[in-house]
Amino acid sequence: MIRDSYEKLKQEIGDQAKLIAVTKYHSAEDALAAYDAGVRHFGENRIEGFLEKREALPEDAEVHFIGTLQSRKVKDIIDHLNYVHSLDRMSVAKKIEQYSSHTVKCFIQVNVSGESSKHGLSPEEVPGFLDDMRAYSRIRIIGLMTMAPHTEDEAEIAWVFEQLRILKDSLKEKNSGNIQVEELSMGMSNDYHVALRHGATYVRIGSKLMGSR
Ligand SMILES: *Cc1c(COP(=O)(O)O)cnc(C)c1O
Repeated sequence: MIRDSYEKLKQEIGDQAKLIAVTKYHSAEDALAAYDAGVRHFGENRIEGFLEKREALPEDAEVHFIGTLQSRKVKDIIDHLNYVHSLDRMSVAKKIEQYSSHTVKCFIQVNVSGESSKHGLSPEEVPGFLDDMRAYSRIRIIGLMTMAPHTEDEAEIAWVFEQLRILKDSLKEKNSGNIQVEELSMGMSNDYHVALRHGATYVRIGSKLMGSR
């Protein structure tokens, strides 16, 4: 039951982080059940079915886009999004600036492990990208996001999360205006424990909360 898993997760996470329920494999009905259990943050990674779910949820549900956003799709959904976790391209930033009628809270996605299959900027590219974002009035950079590598090796996962934390701390002097790198979006069903130990402030949880598809 969603209610039971939510209560359990809430206990574990405490005040440190916000829990984002990732509903990508679930129906609007399931998302509503999560809302009724108390969930207020919802994560989606695909455009298909997104608007239907957004409409099913009450106004005060906050919606996070956690997947790769294609620039040509931005205009279709941006006004229904509160957060974007995957910003890593100028082309997407430009479309947000052009089409959003509100300020979108964004995380810069960072590819810490350097795996070629992963999206995101390399850590070295982040400072320059942040400076580029200063001109974008519809974008507020609130933090960094990463995905851990697919591995059973907890030390490797911990290393990736720690690198993101170190990167965030190293960017402190950049914080002014619309650049406020304070948050860390990291940790999913299998590794949120590790992410919390390394300073996660948003965890994105699908199967462990919603059930496997
Ligand atoms: C699917 C997904 C999640 C949640 O995955 P689970 O393992 O089901 O918790 C988190 N973040 C992103 C970017 C995802 O695509």
